[in-house]
Amino acid sequence: MNDIKLALLGSEGAGKSAVLVRFLTKRFIGEYASNANSLYHKRFSIDGRQLNLEVFDPCSQSGESRCILEEPVDWADGFVVVYTISDRTSFLNAKNILAQIKESRRETCKGEVPICLVGNKQDLCHSRQVSEEEGRCLAQENKCHFQEVSAAENYLDISNLFTKLIRHVMEH
Ligand code: GDP
Repeated sequence: MNDIKLALLGSEGAGKSAVLVRFLTKRFIGEYASNANSLYHKRFSIDGRQLNLEVFDPCSQSGESRCILEEPVDWADGFVVVYTISDRTSFLNAKNILAQIKESRRETCKGEVPICLVGNKQDLCHSRQVSEEEGRCLAQENKCHFQEVSAAENYLDISNLFTKLIRHVMEH
């Protein structure tokens, strides 16, 4: 498989665009007002293989709205589900999104759906509302990868999580 399609899902404001732009450009975007769905393309080399990476960043979704989720869930090979460690509501929303992905893909996928659960804004740990352990447990329950990151301060963790997820998609 040379074409890999990923989708970012999560509450509005969780930092989906910031995480993605950090991965694509190594830079942090302070404010990013987007009211449209965005599709990003990147040529990506992994383990000596050239890949065409497409990443879908929906403008926002509540997670309660099935119709907003349907499009990326049907389209993507793998998912990055983002919440904010300082916002418990975004964590509960991520939990719903994971359940919805699993439900929608149950009949079409034999194995696990490649997903990475991401706890973003690690730099705001002074106002943390979700422990790292809770994030890890939710990921284990859903058999997905887990990573806490800060789109504001760190590139490496974000790069690693995308690499891990892409490898998983390639093996799938
Ligand atoms: P989206 O709606 O999920 O795409 O969220 P955005 O990427 O637009 O980010 C929402 C807000 O959170 C913006 O003001 C970002 O600058 C901010 N933000 C994103 N990631 C981080 C982070 O890691 N740390 C901090 N402190 N702020 C962040």
